[in-house]
Amino acid sequence: MAFQKAIRGTALVGGGALATVLGLSHFAQYRRKQANLASVQAVDCFNIQLKELPSRETQLTSLQSNTEFDILVIGGGATGAGCALDAVTRGLRTALVERDDFSSGTSSRSTKLIHGGVRYLQKAIVNLDYEQYRMVKDALHERANLLEIAPHLSHALPIMLPIYKWWQLPYYWIGIKLYDLVAGANCLKSSYVLSKSRALEHFPMLQKDKLVGAIVYYDGQHNDARMNLAIALTAARYGAAIANYVEVKNLLKRKDPVSGKLQVCGARCMDMLTGCEFEVRAKCVINATGPFTDTLRKMDNQCTENICQPSAGVHIVMPGYYSPENMGLLDPATSDGRVIFFLPWEKMTIAGTTDSPTDITPHPIPSEEDINFILNEVRNYLSCDVEVRRGDVLAAWSGIRPLVTDPSSKDTQSISRNHVVDTSDSGLITIAGGKWTTYRAMAEDTIDVAVKNHNFKVGPSRTANLFLQGGKEWSPTMYIRLVQDYGLENEVAQHLASTYGDKAFEVAKIASVTGKRWPIVGIRLVSEFPYIEAEVKYGIKEYACTAVDIISRRTRLAFLNVQAAEEALPKIVDLMAKELNWCEERKKEELECATRFLYYEMGYKSRSEQLTDCSEISLQPSDIERYKKRFHMFDKEQKGFITIIDVQRVLESIDIQMDENTLHEILNEVDLNKNGLVELHEFLQLMSAVQKGMVSGSRLAILMKTAEENLGSRSSIPVDRSCGGL
Ligand SMILES: Cc1cc2nc3c(=O)[nH]c(=O)nc-3n(C[C@H](O)[C@H](O)[C@H](O)COP(=O)(O)OP(=O)(O)OC[C@H]3O[C@@H](n4cnc5c(N)ncnc54)[C@H](O)[C@@H]3O)c2cc1C
Repeated sequence: MAFQKAIRGTALVGGGALATVLGLSHFAQYRRKQANLASVQAVDCFNIQLKELPSRETQLTSLQSNTEFDILVIGGGATGAGCALDAVTRGLRTALVERDDFSSGTSSRSTKLIHGGVRYLQKAIVNLDYEQYRMVKDALHERANLLEIAPHLSHALPIMLPIYKWWQLPYYWIGIKLYDLVAGANCLKSSYVLSKSRALEHFPMLQKDKLVGAIVYYDGQHNDARMNLAIALTAARYGAAIANYVEVKNLLKRKDPVSGKLQVCGARCMDMLTGCEFEVRAKCVINATGPFTDTLRKMDNQCTENICQPSAGVHIVMPGYYSPENMGLLDPATSDGRVIFFLPWEKMTIAGTTDSPTDITPHPIPSEEDINFILNEVRNYLSCDVEVRRGDVLAAWSGIRPLVTDPSSKDTQSISRNHVVDTSDSGLITIAGGKWTTYRAMAEDTIDVAVKNHNFKVGPSRTANLFLQGGKEWSPTMYIRLVQDYGLENEVAQHLASTYGDKAFEVAKIASVTGKRWPIVGIRLVSEFPYIEAEVKYGIKEYACTAVDIISRRTRLAFLNVQAAEEALPKIVDLMAKELNWCEERKKEELECATRFLYYEMGYKSRSEQLTDCSEISLQPSDIERYKKRFHMFDKEQKGFITIIDVQRVLESIDIQMDENTLHEILNEVDLNKNGLVELHEFLQLMSAVQKGMVSGSRLAILMKTAEENLGSRSSIPVDRSCGGL
C-alpha cells in the first residue's frame, strides 16, 4: 500500500512530463495492437535460389579464379559478414576473407545483448544530444529486426534494475518508459515496476536490505558467434565467396586511367592453413577489421592517422543458479562508475562490465584484477545467503571494442558514438565503430557508399527483414519434431533448434545412434551440456577448421565452462581427425593449441592459478585434523600420499565405478608438483582453497567427502559381515 502511494506520489511529482511519456508510450502500444503492426516482419523477400553451402575448398577456388569481384570485404566479424550479405543480396559479386575464424574477434566476445542502450538514452536526455538519441532510436529498430530475422538465435530478455533509494524510482522509471517510447512500435514488451516482494519473487538471490523495488525492461539477447556465423553462411548461400583462415597481407593497387591516381583493386592473401598465397581482385575493397582497422588503413597509406581507440571489456561466466533463468540484472552505477550486467545465458550466468583502454591484440586475456572486480560488484547486489566464490568462475574472456574517431570530423580526438564509413584517397572503404546490434545498418551504409563510389547499377539494401539461415522455418515448438522423429533427448533437441533453427534436422540426421533405449540418437560431447558429436561433423560443413572453432564458436563450450571444454577436446579432435584426415602430429598440435587457447584466452589460467604450489594453507587446527582423517581413509598405509590405486580401492568399496583416465585427470588437478601423487600438503592446500571459495567443484574434494560419508554410514555394519574390510 505504502509502495503504491509512493508511486502515485511520484507520478504526480513527475506531472506533465511523465503523463506525456506514458500517454505516448501507451498510444504507440495501442496503435501497434490495432494495426497488428510488428513494425518489422521478416519475409523471404526475393526470389534468389538459395544454394547449398559450398565447401571451403570450392570457396578458395572461387576466390582465386574469379577475374574480378565487385566487392572484397576484409574481416569476418559481424560487420564484415553483414557487408558481404548486403552486397551479395543486391546482386554484387562479393568476396569476404577472414584471417582467423568467422567471429573469432570481438563479435564472439560481447555481452550478447541486442539493445538500444538505456544508458546512451540517459546521456542523450541529460545532455540534450540529438545525435545520441537518433543512435538509440536506430539501434532499437535494428534490435527488432534482428529478433525477427533470426528468431532461433535470439529472444527478448527482461532485465531488472534494482532500486535501493526511493528517489531512484521515478528517475529510472521515466528513463525506462522513455526507452519504450523511443522504441515505439519496436518496443519488445512494456516495462513495469515491481514492489520489493515481487522483485524478490522474480530474483530471489537479490540483496534484500534497503531494496525498495525494481524496474523491469526488455532488450534482446542472442548467441553472438552463432549469429555472426549465420550472417556469413547466409551470404555464402546467396553466392558470396567467403573463406576463413585467409589473411590479407597487402592491398593491391593500380593506376586509375581517368584520374591517374593509384586505386585499391584487391588484396594479396594467404591461406593460413597451407601458407599458400594468392590475389583476390575487386573493384571495391572494404576494411571491416574491427580493432585492426588502422593496420589495414596503414597498408593503404603508411602516413594515415590512427582512428581506432581500442577499449577492452571482460566477462565472467558463473553457474546458472546465480541468476533466475529468465531475468537479467543491470546495475547502471557500480562502485567505480562502470555499468555491470548480470544475465542468464545458455543456462549459465554472464557478468561483465563496460570497458577500459587497452592495447590491440588478436588474443586478449582476461586479467585476474578484472575478474575480481566483477566478482566484488556481484557480491554487492546478491543476498549474503549466496556465497560468491572465485571458484565459481567457469570461464572468462576479454573483448576489444573498436571505438573510432571520425577522420572527416574537425574534432579528431572525440570518439564517434556512431559508426564511421570513410573512403580513403585510394578508394579503400573503412567501416568501424558502432555495435553488434547495428551491424546490418552499418553494412547498409557501407555498401551504399561503395555503390555510389563505383556507380554500381544495383538497387537499395535488401537485408532489412531478410531471414538469416535457419530462421525461416523455425518455430518455438520445432524441437518437439526433433524428439519425436529422431529420438533425441528433449534438452538436446531444444539446443539444436535454438542453434541451427530449421537446419537442426540436418544435424539430427547425422547424429550417431546411442545404442540405448533412450535417447535413440545424439551422443553428448560432455555429460552436462547438450552439445552432441554430430555437431562436430556439421561444424566442419560450416567451415570449422580447428578444434578451437568447435569449442568456441560452433558450440560455445569454451565460453560456458573451460573445464568441460578441455574434457571434450580429445573426443572433438578424434572426430575432426576422422573427417579431415589429420595425422597424429596434427592431432597433437590441435590439442595443444586448443588447450593454450583455454588457458590464456578463456580464463583457465586464472582459474588454475587459484591452487598453486605456494597456495597458503589457512585452516583451523580442528579442520586440519578432520581433513587428515579423511586423507588417511584413502592413504591406509599412511605413506603421506595417495595414488590412483588408493582412490580406486575406496571407490570400489562404496560401489562407485570410474575409469582410470578420469581418475588420472581428477588427481592431476590437485597434483601441484606433478609427481603423479597427491601428497597430504597438496590435499590440505586444496581444502583450504575450497573453504576460501577460491576453488569450487573440485572432483577429488567432492569424491573424498562422499566416500567419507558413505564409509561413515556403513560403520554400523558389523566387522564380520564386511569381511574385515575398511
Ligand atoms: C566487451 C564487449 C561487449 C560488447 N557487448 C555488446 C553488446 O552486448 N551488444 C552490442 O550490440 N554490442 C556489443 N559490443 C560491441 C560489438 O561486439 C562490436 O561492435 C562488434 O562485435 C564489432 O564487430 P566487427 O566485425 O567490427 O569486429 P570483429 O568482430 O573484431 O571482426 C573483425 C575481424 O577482422 C579480422 N581481421 C583483422 N585483420 C585481418 C586481415 N588482415 N585479414 C583478414 N581478416 C582480418 C579479425 O580476425 C576479426 O575477426 C561489445 C563489445 C565489447 C568489447
